[in-house]
Amino acid sequence: MVQTNPRFAVIGAGIVGVCCALRLQARGFDVCLFDPREPGSATSFGNAGVIADSFIMPYSTPGLWKQLPGMLLSGDGPLKVRWPYFVRGLPWLLRFMSEARVDRTRQVAAELATLGRLCQSSHRELMREHDVDANLMKANGVLKVYRDPRVIENHALEHEVLREHGFPVEVLDGDELRQLEPGLSREFRAAEFLPVMGQVAQSVKLTEAYFEAFVRLGGRHIKESARRFEMQSEGPKRLITDLGIHDVDQVLIAAGAWSRELVNALGIDVPLDTERGYHISVDWCDELVLNRPVMDGENFFVMAPMLDGVRVTSGTEIGGLSLPPDFSRVRRILGYARASLPKLTGAVNREWMGYRPSMPDSKPVIGRSPRHAGVFFAFGHGHLGLTQAAITSKLIEELVMGVPTSVAVAPFSAERFA
Ligand SMILES: Cc1cc2nc3c(=O)[nH]c(=O)nc-3n(C[C@H](O)[C@H](O)[C@H](O)COP(=O)(O)OP(=O)(O)OC[C@H]3O[C@@H](n4cnc5c(N)ncnc54)[C@H](O)[C@@H]3O)c2cc1C
Repeated sequence: MVQTNPRFAVIGAGIVGVCCALRLQARGFDVCLFDPREPGSATSFGNAGVIADSFIMPYSTPGLWKQLPGMLLSGDGPLKVRWPYFVRGLPWLLRFMSEARVDRTRQVAAELATLGRLCQSSHRELMREHDVDANLMKANGVLKVYRDPRVIENHALEHEVLREHGFPVEVLDGDELRQLEPGLSREFRAAEFLPVMGQVAQSVKLTEAYFEAFVRLGGRHIKESARRFEMQSEGPKRLITDLGIHDVDQVLIAAGAWSRELVNALGIDVPLDTERGYHISVDWCDELVLNRPVMDGENFFVMAPMLDGVRVTSGTEIGGLSLPPDFSRVRRILGYARASLPKLTGAVNREWMGYRPSMPDSKPVIGRSPRHAGVFFAFGHGHLGLTQAAITSKLIEELVMGVPTSVAVAPFSAERFA
């Protein structure tokens, strides 16, 4: 049995855990990051790299009930259910659907806006403080593009909510769109432009850069899988992993889609499930121009320029943590992407699947354990884990230090589902 003495155990070395570990180590804690995998190599590896500060609308929006049958039947829509997982996924889906109300949409958007306003600046701050190359993050905005301009007329609520919270959205016609993205097919006749959104050139590189800073400050990565905890009245006493026992004073659970089991080991439950997502990466080739992430707003996929190719990402698949990947939908989506971006003719260099850690109300869990001193939670960031990682780490640091938080954390507490 391995015996070490890490005082602060951060469980999970995705973008969320690494940001938190870095801030805590910089604060002088003796931090051990527990993860059997390399930092950033799970879900944080394969996202579209968007720093989506303006994505404050919850994913369960009014009208979803009407759209649901079409989505499920289409096979290529934004939501797919893997039928062997249907019964297990149903409680989450029902909770998700119960959020599809105007009042909840407005409330959740207002709460996510408090994070959204600080997402990009928190990354910039963390990058600056730890000498991370500022060029890793650009701020070229994001486009949502449409063949039928009338689709945008249905987005009045979204535009109103965005503007109410200070996030600009511009509606462009086809000519204005092509000035920004000359490579897009002329089929697209309208767009929504979210000009303040950012993008990371290669998502894993940002996690790696934060991780390197953590190690430079003396932080340690222990390649073990957390299993359970021994608690005492003052808080955690020991962390038991697959390979060892470690004395700890404080614990942060940041294990993405795998956090529920760990939280359960503390006697707490949260309705965390996974929204699986896929990407196919296509080689760059001559004459291909893509200046920023572009979302096809009718077919619900993203084309994101990355250092190693154009990444075409899919919507959501409800299928749990153990079913094998099914690449058929994202392969069909690649066909749509090649039609949308006619010079996207390169070879496929990767097919990938990851596990978005998703709460049914589209909000992460950020806060203290409701039951134990010295235990903190940072998981459930769903579609926005890269975006919200740095502000999450700032809030965790503030909670650990016992100082006022930059934004109210009550809306993100684990207790909200009790
Ligand atoms: C296709 C796709 C596109 C996306 N696009 C975007 C985007 O453009 N912008 C954005 O902001 N977000 C995006 N996301 C979402 C984002 O990628 C996730 O929200 C984010 O990666 C979650 O980070 P995490 O650190 O919580 O989890 P992960 O990156 O999954 O890391 C969790 C880590 O915990 C470890 N772990 C699990 N169990 C244990 C245990 N028992 N002990 C120790 N370690 C454990 C795992 O090994 C893993 O390394 C996208 C997701 C997908 C799938």
